[in-house]
Amino acid sequence: MQSQALDLLHSVFGYPGFRGQQQAIVDEVAGGGDALVLMPTGGGKSLCFQIPALMRHGTGIVVSPLIALMQDQVDALTEAGVKARYLNSSLDAATQREVEDLLLAGELDMLYVAPERLLTGRFLGLLERIPVALFAIDEAHCVSQWGHDFRPEYRGLAILHERFPDVPRIALTATADERTREEIVERLGLHEARRFVSSFDRPNIRYRVAPRQNARRQLLDFLDGHRGEAGIVYCLSRRKVDETAAWLMEAGIESLAYHAGLDTETRTRHQQRFLREEGVVMVATVAFGMGIDKPDVRFVAHLDLPRSMEGYYQETGRAGRDGLPAEAWMVYGLGDVVTMSQMISQSEAGDDRKRIERLKLDSLLGYAEATRCRRQLLLEAFAETYPEPCGNCDNCLVPPKTWDATLAAQKAMSCIYRSGQRYGAGHLIDILRGEAGERVRELGHDKLTVFGVGADMDATQWRSVFRQLLAAGWIEADPEGFGTLRLSSTSGPVLKGERRVWLREDARPAKGRRGKRSP
Ligand code: ADP
Repeated sequence: MQSQALDLLHSVFGYPGFRGQQQAIVDEVAGGGDALVLMPTGGGKSLCFQIPALMRHGTGIVVSPLIALMQDQVDALTEAGVKARYLNSSLDAATQREVEDLLLAGELDMLYVAPERLLTGRFLGLLERIPVALFAIDEAHCVSQWGHDFRPEYRGLAILHERFPDVPRIALTATADERTREEIVERLGLHEARRFVSSFDRPNIRYRVAPRQNARRQLLDFLDGHRGEAGIVYCLSRRKVDETAAWLMEAGIESLAYHAGLDTETRTRHQQRFLREEGVVMVATVAFGMGIDKPDVRFVAHLDLPRSMEGYYQETGRAGRDGLPAEAWMVYGLGDVVTMSQMISQSEAGDDRKRIERLKLDSLLGYAEATRCRRQLLLEAFAETYPEPCGNCDNCLVPPKTWDATLAAQKAMSCIYRSGQRYGAGHLIDILRGEAGERVRELGHDKLTVFGVGADMDATQWRSVFRQLLAAGWIEADPEGFGTLRLSSTSGPVLKGERRVWLREDARPAKGRRGKRSP
């Protein structure tokens, strides 16, 4: 069997040997076993079902949620001489009929289908009339509510096993933290499946996170180190994408915008230019990237917080596919934390979904504020242990200093409390620094005992303190009020002096940069 697999690898795909766990996976599935494959993007998941589909009698049915990717894969297979087609809503009725006829005539090695199509009674009926070599469920995390792109129709795939108990199933995904993994097993009934977990480490990517001071300046400095190189700059909103692309152009950097608000023609054109030309910077929302296989993306920059660690991993993972050094760089600030918390609270999602989103945000914030190796943290999110600090992230290269910020935290918390837990960081900082502006005087906040008690630190330093306190949950953002900060359940022990708070150095009062003293 192994030699047959190798023969196909050579003769059909033209590769000299299998990579990583491919051979073991192929053996398992070709032999009729079920498999759950967790492999990072670019790891080579496709061969894991394509080769067994060719080895086994009948047609391999591949479930994929992405219409564009189906076409790419089918084109590549056809080029290699494999009889492959796809069925989805993009085909006209005559073509659909033609594909079905080929299927029934036993003329297809592989058929790619969208899940909603597969699950129709009609299509399942067709499958019962032919030998099925295997079911491959690509992007299997779509079955999970915990995962980042849940597709309800994936849930229905559980019936494949009931209707076709003898057909092996292989589920594949590149995003699987522990919870997503368990949900895939549960939802698809893959308890018996052998698990193949590859390392998610991307050793050539250097991870860096910087507190936002002047995002544009910081981005330009970062891009200075990547002149003439291709990269992606992710922003949260379409507007910010447009603005950022425009001012980068003004700054002499070849950049294009990509988001779902642009018409299809523009999006395709920009994508093609990014893929074909050298040194184009794509400024985009997360709408850009799925299925983009450009090997020499040298950097991925985040100007806003991504949605979750999985999202961050996927997005940064688009850098350095060629194995050469690449950078993942992110700036973030107090505003992001507030915005993200509020987006979650104000979303239409149910309470369970909100709870999940909050946990995800917490884990991301933990990463952003980390003082230890970022790679270790990132891989821990995928239930992988990375034994030693990596030596290729900012925290390893320049270990951050921490300082005992207990007193500053107490001042910040008292200020929140005394002013009635109704204000955002800007106003709180004015009070702390003793800035008796109009609003502060109007509200009588210049009479508070905390007025001016934080004049030894400047506003930037205070913002950093608030950001870190918020990120770590020592204080929280009021879901109702815009930017309003309030105490959390963990504030008490700090205020009472029972818990000490250590923060990253970027918040420490720098010598000679002291703010004005309180009167
Ligand atoms: P994934 O689906 O895991 O993102 P793909 O299956 O698209 O990854 O494979 C990523 C790239 O690696 C493709 O260009 C593919 O042709 C290549 N590849 C996969 N397996 C091998 C192999 N054994 N030898 C050489 N190249 C491979």
